Amino acid sequence: MASVKIRLTDARNLPPICSSCGQPATAGKKDTYAWNPSWVTLFIFAGLLPWAVFMYFTRRTVTLTMPVCASHIRQGRPGPKFVICGFILAAVLGVIGCFLDEPYKDLGDTVLMSAVGVLLLAGLVAFFGIGSGITAEEIGDESITLKGVSEEFAAAVNTGYRTPRVASTGGIELATAKFFRT
Ligand SMILES: [Zn+2]
Repeated sequence: MASVKIRLTDARNLPPICSSCGQPATAGKKDTYAWNPSWVTLFIFAGLLPWAVFMYFTRRTVTLTMPVCASHIRQGRPGPKFVICGFILAAVLGVIGCFLDEPYKDLGDTVLMSAVGVLLLAGLVAFFGIGSGITAEEIGDESITLKGVSEEFAAAVNTGYRTPRVASTGGIELATAKFFRT
């Protein structure tokens, strides 16, 4: 796996090489990449709420249409489904825990604790997302650096491969927090 820096002006012209495995790409898959400057993490020491506020306002997202091969187009983000299952599981465990808490206090508490654990995990996944394994390493004003892409894809981008402009791939949307945009 490799990292690649893509200029936002080039984002519509990505090489037709699967970003996951390096095979010839047959389709485009829209994916949104999010990134926060690393210093924001320090605000966790100021408390959860200030941290969440800073995470929200410094968050940058870029939506790219990544070239993918036939086998990788089906591999969608397990994110939303996983998160919903997580929340349902946590709710079920919570109810079971409450019922068990009367006759078997220890067991009930254990189940309740695992409900909280599942809830936290689902919350983390909801926030950070899990997906194709490709994540944003950095999002700047003019470029996005992705890590976890295939070597072939990275090499093609770096050598300045240009696809002839045929059909629009959907392009790119850059949404930056209003307050921190310079
Ligand atoms: Zn592939």
